[in-house]
Amino acid sequence: ATPTALMVASGRSARMGVLIKDGEILEAAAKIKTIVFDKTGTLTVGQPQLVDQVGDKASLSLAASLEANSEHPLAQAIVTSAKKGGQPLLPVSDFSAEEGKGVEGKVAGHLVKVGRADYVSAPDAWRQQAEGLAEAGKTVVYVQKDSAVIGLLALQDAPRPEAKAVLSELKSRGIKTVMLTGDNQQLAEKIGRQLGIDQVEAGLLPGEKADRLAKLQEAGPVAFVGDGINDAPALSLADVGIAMGSGTDVAKEAGGIVLMTSDLTGVLRALDLSKQTFTRIK
Ligand code: ADP
Ligand code: MG
Repeated sequence: ATPTALMVASGRSARMGVLIKDGEILEAAAKIKTIVFDKTGTLTVGQPQLVDQVGDKASLSLAASLEANSEHPLAQAIVTSAKKGGQPLLPVSDFSAEEGKGVEGKVAGHLVKVGRADYVSAPDAWRQQAEGLAEAGKTVVYVQKDSAVIGLLALQDAPRPEAKAVLSELKSRGIKTVMLTGDNQQLAEKIGRQLGIDQVEAGLLPGEKADRLAKLQEAGPVAFVGDGINDAPALSLADVGIAMGSGTDVAKEAGGIVLMTSDLTGVLRALDLSKQTFTRIK
């Protein structure tokens, strides 16, 4: 494209609520074969609500005490829900968080862990209960006190209202859609079916997301859409990294395109603009 075409494109993109950092990115966007989406905060609104609690009633208070030290969206939901229910937040010592897995610390003299099945040591009976909740579309976290799981907390996060239409439009343009998530397989598959996503990869740690993306790049240029701090490696590695407007600063720095709002139709607008800019001038 000529410099004039690029200038026109950048003016139009700003009006459309899409920030494109340079002409090379706009050109790469015209060649995308696959678009990979993060789940939480990208395909979903990113504001989970606690909807179910199984097991020991004290689980919520113990979990919320720990989660008050974490910035994860699940943590915020657990703390909010405990406060609403009048559950006490107890003092915590030796807190630590494992990215993409869970949190632990000492609460009231007990070692408490809150997180994925493979972060605590979840026996089969608990796993089966958790699978039932996950199949109903919920994110499940286990609460472990000392060495035994004592409860489950199930949280639900709604898909963005425009997600389904955007994914179906991408499909009609011949673009393959993929979802990568650290959440569990049952839930990921359920959302994948709801939204009509071609491929779903679940249970991934933050580093594994970038590995999967590299694998997908073997078939052609890939765009990645994400919002979190843990999405930064994939946003940088992708041929086109697209950060959500509601995303963290780290994500917005790593992305070559930033959507000024959190509306996923911005992805379509960015692709349209790049097609128009790079097919008009041949
Ligand atoms: P996503 O890929 O959906 O953004 P993450 O990689 O952040 O998810 O987390 C993956 C999983 O790790 C969560 O679904 C949850 O089970 C567990 N997890 C991560 N952080 C926390 C936390 N602060 N408290 C409880 N569980 C957590
Ligand atoms: Mg996210």
